[in-house]
Amino acid sequence: MAKKKIAVIGGGSSGLCTIKCCLDDGLEPTCFERSEDIGGLWRFKKNPEEGRASIYKSVIINTSKEMMCFSDFPIPDEFPNYMHNSKIMEYFRMYADHFDLLKYIRFKTTVVSVTKRPDFSSTGQWDVVTESEGKQESAVFDGVMVCSGHHTNAHLPLDSFPGIEKFKGRYYHSRDYKSPQEFSEKRVIVIGIGNSGGDLAVELSHEADQVFLSTRRGAWVLNRVEEQGYPVDIVLTTRLKAFFKQVLTTSMVNQWAENRLNARFNHAHYGLRPQHRIMSQHPTINDDLPNRIISGKVLVKPNIREFTETGAIFEDGTREEDIDAVFFATGYSFSFPFLQDCVKVVENQVSLYKFIFPPHLEKPTLAFIGLVQPLGAIMPIAELQSRLATQVFKGILHSITLQGTHTSLSYFRYVKSPRHTIQVDYVEYMDELACLAGVKPNLLSLFLTDPKLAMEVFFGPCTPYQYRLRGPGKWSGARKAILTQRERIIKPLKTRPVGDYTHHTSVPYLFKIVGAVALFAIIFAYF
Ligand code: FAD
Ligand code: NAP
Repeated sequence: MAKKKIAVIGGGSSGLCTIKCCLDDGLEPTCFERSEDIGGLWRFKKNPEEGRASIYKSVIINTSKEMMCFSDFPIPDEFPNYMHNSKIMEYFRMYADHFDLLKYIRFKTTVVSVTKRPDFSSTGQWDVVTESEGKQESAVFDGVMVCSGHHTNAHLPLDSFPGIEKFKGRYYHSRDYKSPQEFSEKRVIVIGIGNSGGDLAVELSHEADQVFLSTRRGAWVLNRVEEQGYPVDIVLTTRLKAFFKQVLTTSMVNQWAENRLNARFNHAHYGLRPQHRIMSQHPTINDDLPNRIISGKVLVKPNIREFTETGAIFEDGTREEDIDAVFFATGYSFSFPFLQDCVKVVENQVSLYKFIFPPHLEKPTLAFIGLVQPLGAIMPIAELQSRLATQVFKGILHSITLQGTHTSLSYFRYVKSPRHTIQVDYVEYMDELACLAGVKPNLLSLFLTDPKLAMEVFFGPCTPYQYRLRGPGKWSGARKAILTQRERIIKPLKTRPVGDYTHHTSVPYLFKIVGAVALFAIIFAYF
């Protein structure tokens, strides 16, 4: 039987793993990428390009390497845990080379329309029209996988900022920001306290005279570097913690997390404390922000009530004058213009089963990959979505009814904001997909047959390799990858040999115990 032809739209990280999943499942992928290279958002360019996400030169990812890698291709030991965008590109190129993916990509080719064929209800086929160097072409595909990203279209809410039209300084979206030098000795306002707002405020504050960080809601700020210096996602993204989240009340979990963050710096004292609880907002991760605030280089301000010709008046009535530039780090909106009426997006809300499949199609031959905002990394999620979708395309998974939209309760936990419409929790969502795809690790049987591995799977970080231990797409290297993951975390840090001796205490242990008992006795007698 002829292989089914699949159109993959976009050659970013989601597109790359999707091509590989198609090949693994015996499908024939053709990937269309509008730019001249792979990598999508992670390929830095000096100027923003139309239709492709744009990043600043210094961007360092905030999901760590063991949590963001593809599940059968660990990131090399010596790569840092939090990679600069150039290093991420290196990893994507290694992945594409290793699995020989480039030959399936047609660069400088934009998908302009995807429409159902007249016989769609019986064949599920699509007409895909592409444009390359001014020439249009049409081809028929058995399935379409949309990997076009969701951080491309700037959300620039000028209507919410009266007076912006008379402001004489310059204003930009964070998408246009590349580096801080040109803002040397300037006074700059950054609006929004997502990860872009935090990063921009910190970086600009090293060059600018003064940075004002304006937020309408505040934020809880997490550190990349957590307990014992492990990456924060390694510490927090475990099955054990996911279990606690289920058995404890949300309020208890919030309290525990907020206490931890406030122990580092009191969010109220720093003008950051929001009214909502920590679990109600996509996390802002920024180790440097409190340092820039405590040194006065970043001043946290409330929302802007209105702009004047030379500055801004904030909602608390304070005003700042002589402002040279304003950055709207106000996020993104997404759309799929090539799909026309087939899928509707209204204010970043889209109706999809498991955030993948449009529920109303007569045939399940269209899938969205990477269209989620996880508490965690997108890459392994996109990969598992693709593995599920290719099974559906092949007709292996008849049991999926593809009805309804996403059912996760996490959506209701979040404050209402267009940035939270596609929010998912990593372990819970991955397990939901893995159940459907038949690749969820079976903990009970693991504890009986391989307790060492089971302990790391349950208590350790829920790394993507866990979804390669069994079922379709099982990878023989998964067990080893899990058992060696901590070595790969530590390896790039230990660049100076420190030996393994421990300092012996000068006071013998027994004396310490006797001393402590004596101290308690004195306190007890005294009070
Ligand atoms: P993209 O990387 O956006 O790639 C989409 C590709 O599709 C592009 O190459 C584009 O040219 C192509 N394309 C689009 N439309 C068409 C068309 N019609 N025809 C042909 N080609 C098309 N995620 C994390 O997991 N961890 C992080 O720490 C993290 N940090 C981030 C930092 C910033 C500053 C931003 C903005 C986002 C961050 N993200 C992070 C999210 C980011 O979206 C993902 O990491 C990842 O880039 C998603 O990959 P993608 O392939 O889905 O989309
Ligand atoms: P974002 O997460 O959507 O944050 C947008 C911010 O702008 C929020 O604080 C939001 O406030 C605010 N905002 C939106 N509309 C507003 C309005 N009308 N008035 C006032 N404030 C408004 O966008 P982002 O920070 O660009 O992040 C996008 C994605 O990139 C996220 O996934 C993020 O994690 C990722 N990212 C990662 C890194 C990194 O890895 N280093 C760096 C940057 C970005 P509300 O909360 O009140 O809506």
